[in-house]
Amino acid sequence: MSIKDEIKRRKSRTAQIGTLSIGSDYPISVQSMTNCDVNNLTDTLKQIDRLEAAGCDLIRIAFPDIQSCKSIPIIKRHAKVPIMADVHFNYLIALEALQQDIDGIRLNPGNIKKEAEIIQVITKAQKKGAMIRFGINAGSLDKSIMEKYKEPNFLALVEEAEQVVKFLNKLEYQNFVLSIKSSNIIDTVKANQIIAKKCDYPLHIGITEAGFDQSGIVKSATGIGILLYEGIGDTVRVSLTGDPVKEVLVGHDILRALGIKKQGINLITCPTCGRCQVDIYKIARKVENNLQDVRLPLTIAIMGCIVNGPGEAKIADFGIAYHKKEAMLFREGTLIGRYNTRQALELLNQEIRIRLKREQSG
Ligand code: SF4
Repeated sequence: MSIKDEIKRRKSRTAQIGTLSIGSDYPISVQSMTNCDVNNLTDTLKQIDRLEAAGCDLIRIAFPDIQSCKSIPIIKRHAKVPIMADVHFNYLIALEALQQDIDGIRLNPGNIKKEAEIIQVITKAQKKGAMIRFGINAGSLDKSIMEKYKEPNFLALVEEAEQVVKFLNKLEYQNFVLSIKSSNIIDTVKANQIIAKKCDYPLHIGITEAGFDQSGIVKSATGIGILLYEGIGDTVRVSLTGDPVKEVLVGHDILRALGIKKQGINLITCPTCGRCQVDIYKIARKVENNLQDVRLPLTIAIMGCIVNGPGEAKIADFGIAYHKKEAMLFREGTLIGRYNTRQALELLNQEIRIRLKREQSG
C-alpha cells in the first residue's frame, strides 16, 4: 500500500479565491508571500513571476497602508495566480484592497478586533466575491485569551479560532479559510487537530516563523507533514526567512514526499558510502537541473553501486546505477545499456524528452 492510499483527507468545504478553489474537493495548494516592498512594483512583479514559475498557486502581498493598495490593479493584471492582501491593524486598508478588486484578504483577528470593522470588511468581501483568510497566530492572540492561558499554547489558539468561527457563523459568512499557527510545532499540530474535528472549514497550514535554511525546512516539513499525513490541510505555506521561491519548492517537496502530489521529478539518490566511485551529488544535481521544467510525475533513481543500485533503478521510471565508474541505465525496470556518465546523462535526458512528447501527444 502506498502512503497516499493511507491518507484520507479531512472533508472540508470549498473557499474560492479568484480562480483557485481551496478545500478537500481540490488539490492542496501551495502558497507564498512576496518579501519586497510592494511600492517597488518592478521588484514585486519580478518576484510574482518567479513564484509563479516555481509553481506557487496563491501569492500574498503585504499592503502596509491605503496608498499602497493603488497598485493592486497593475499587480492583478500582471499575475496569473490569485493575489491575497496581507492586512494588519487598519481595516480601512482591507476595504481599499477590496475596492481595488483584490482576490482575497488575510486578516489577523488579533490586531483587527472591533466587530463593526470586521463586519464592514466581510460585507465588502461578500459583495466583491473575495475570500478572507483568518490567521490566528500565537504571536498576536487576544489579550483576554492570553490572560486566561498565560501563554500562547494550543488551547489558547483553539479558543481564539473557535471565537472567530462562532462570529463568522453568526454573520453567515462562508467564504473563508482558517489558519492556526505557532512557531511551536506541537502547539500548531494539536490546535489544528482539534479545530479540524470541530468544523469543516478549509485549513491553511504551516509553522509560522519557522526560521531559515535547514532548521526552518525541517520544522516546517515536520509540522506540515504530520498534519498532512492525518488528512488535515487544504493549502500550505512554508514560512522561511529568505527567498520566497524556496518556500514554494519546499512546499511541493513536502507534498511529493507524502505521495500527495505526483507532478514533477521525484529524485531518489543514495547517500553514498565508501563503495561509491563517482560523485553522486554532482550527478544528481545535474539531473535535477536538466529536468527542472518537467511536470510529468516521474521517479528517477541515481545510485552509487550495485548493492541497492539496480534494485532502486529498476523500480523507478528511469534509473542509473553505477558499477564502479560505469553507469547502468534503466528504463521501467529494463537495462538499456552501460555507459560513461556523460553518455548516460544525455541518454537519460533524451529518454525523458521522448516520454514527455509521447504524453503530450497522447
Ligand atoms: Fe553505498 Fe552502494 Fe548503498 Fe550507495 S547504493 S549507499 S554506494 S552501498
